Amino acid sequence: MRILLVEDMSELSEAILERFRAEGHAIDLENDGAEAEALLRHAGFDLVILDINLPTMNGYEVLRAMRARGDRTPVLVLTARSEIDDRIVGLDVGADDYMVKPFDFRELSARCRALVRRRTGEASNVFTQGDFEFDRGARRALLGGVDLELRQREVQVLELFLGHLGRVLTKDEVADRIYTFDEAPSLNAVEQTITRLRKKLEGSPLQIRTIRGLGYIASIVEA
Ligand code: CA
Repeated sequence: MRILLVEDMSELSEAILERFRAEGHAIDLENDGAEAEALLRHAGFDLVILDINLPTMNGYEVLRAMRARGDRTPVLVLTARSEIDDRIVGLDVGADDYMVKPFDFRELSARCRALVRRRTGEASNVFTQGDFEFDRGARRALLGGVDLELRQREVQVLELFLGHLGRVLTKDEVADRIYTFDEAPSLNAVEQTITRLRKKLEGSPLQIRTIRGLGYIASIVEA
């Protein structure tokens, strides 16, 4: 998942970054409301974790601006108990979920997964097709019961393709979803990751084809 965290409390943001990176997600941090809003205008994320009390522009305003321009990216709001108001409880600010600080990090990551899953229409954390199985929570893929031992990037790419079956993804789109801003994505590296993943997926029902000049398309092939 490509995630944007908007949070100005550095102790908390560091802990969240660490947790999500360890889980193999690409997560960027913004600690200013207006800057986050500007960033969200031109960068695509799978999920936004948004604090309410922020410098220059509060979380409600950031969220309102997103929804006003038709951005439907799932948003999970973080709030202090003292800031919680009816708008959050009713979620009528356009948020998809909220958590009250302090919270359990495992719960935060579980709720984030659920939001992204809901968005892509998947019913469970485990994708199963024939003898192929991918567990989004455990970040693990099995073929005929054997662990494919995917690297972190390969897991990210696999997750991305499973969420976009039958749709062409350009190399740039893949890079955008698996690298943070600090990582300076290289299209060459994307290509290599996909080549390695494809090799590991040999014999599985998931096929990633190259569409020359366009990008890649993943589909399920019946055995
Ligand atoms: Ca804050």
